[in-house]
Amino acid sequence: MTVLELKNQAVLTLLRRQPFMFHLIAPLRYEETDEVPTAAVLFDGVSNESWLKVNPNYVAGLGILELEGLLAHEIMHVLHDHVVAPHVGDWVWNIAADLAVNTILLKQNYVLPEGALTPESVAKQLSEELQKPIAAPPSLESAYWYYRWLHEQKKSADEKQSSCGGSGNSGEPDEDNNQSQSNGKGNSLQDQADSHAHWTGEQQDQDSELTKRFVAQQVQKALEQSKGSLPGYLEQLTRSLLKVLEEPKISWSKLLKRFVGFRAGVLLKPSSGRENKYGQVPRIVFRPSSKFVVFVDVSGSVDDRLASRFFSELEGLSRQGHEFDIGQFAIDVVITGKFRKNPEYLRRMRGGTDFKAPFRFLSNHNLSKNYDGVIILTDGEADWPQPEDLVLPSLWVLSQELQPPPHINSIVIED
Ligand SMILES: [Zn+2]
Repeated sequence: MTVLELKNQAVLTLLRRQPFMFHLIAPLRYEETDEVPTAAVLFDGVSNESWLKVNPNYVAGLGILELEGLLAHEIMHVLHDHVVAPHVGDWVWNIAADLAVNTILLKQNYVLPEGALTPESVAKQLSEELQKPIAAPPSLESAYWYYRWLHEQKKSADEKQSSCGGSGNSGEPDEDNNQSQSNGKGNSLQDQADSHAHWTGEQQDQDSELTKRFVAQQVQKALEQSKGSLPGYLEQLTRSLLKVLEEPKISWSKLLKRFVGFRAGVLLKPSSGRENKYGQVPRIVFRPSSKFVVFVDVSGSVDDRLASRFFSELEGLSRQGHEFDIGQFAIDVVITGKFRKNPEYLRRMRGGTDFKAPFRFLSNHNLSKNYDGVIILTDGEADWPQPEDLVLPSLWVLSQELQPPPHINSIVIED
């Protein structure tokens, strides 16, 4: 069985056990990569991208049920907001978050991969490392609870050591301890925790707000699709997650600015073999401003007032140094040139709308490399492009509420 087949089997097992989890994980874009040590579920509210990444070398050694447990484990971290919590980056938080998630999953009879942390395994390991008997903590506490508990164990061990070893060298045992952990013979508690290396924790407030909202939207969709009643632990969790959707929406103009600003800061790593007129292309380029191509759907009639609201936002962004080329599309595509104030030169085109046309145009003319992203203004409805059609990060600016699939990053213009 290939890793992809194994993953599909595990996802199907999840469908039978817990349809809600299945509907949350099934739409994720899938990638096999050694970027993650085991597996990771990533939601990015700025780009509206969501990923399931698995390390094929690790996953190939798992059974279907263990992989199912691992997928549920990763989803539970997201549902619990462990990924954007204030302690991200502290290895003790990794352990605490794993204990919180694993004790829930074990109670629900999920199978977890060998070596998954449990209260018993953590207590055993701590007893050895701190050289004193430590009783297993209770199950089903929050990550914050386990975090405090772990620090208390460590603190009381430090105090004991410093009172035994006399005064004056209280700092030393701590240092030794840290060193033996980071040098890692591979068996200390720190080495055993899921590394969670993909957790950023450094997101700006606004970004994590967007991510929370994005996660809540996906949760809401999964709930609608699964239609079943949820077990208590998920019901409570999803109810509190959905609260964010009741808060006032972030304005569409702010979201447009985020999309443009975020793409501007992206680090580019052109392939090292390519050369330009300056010789070797630098490996990492930081772009302070960015260039986008904006396609306006001229098959229907985007409301004039909304269109001019949109163009005045673009004008503001171009004053900040971002560049926009503008084009129009229906079934075919024309690029009309640089964005100017009030683009009255946009002319109606015949025929229906083809949402894939702008992307086909960019690929066929090898233009993707000129831009950091695509912005599409439309009022119509047509077949949405598939993830593989989107040759560049894309933002769809809609003049009415539509129901695009999860991989389409969209905002609705409002007055
Ligand atoms: Zn984990």
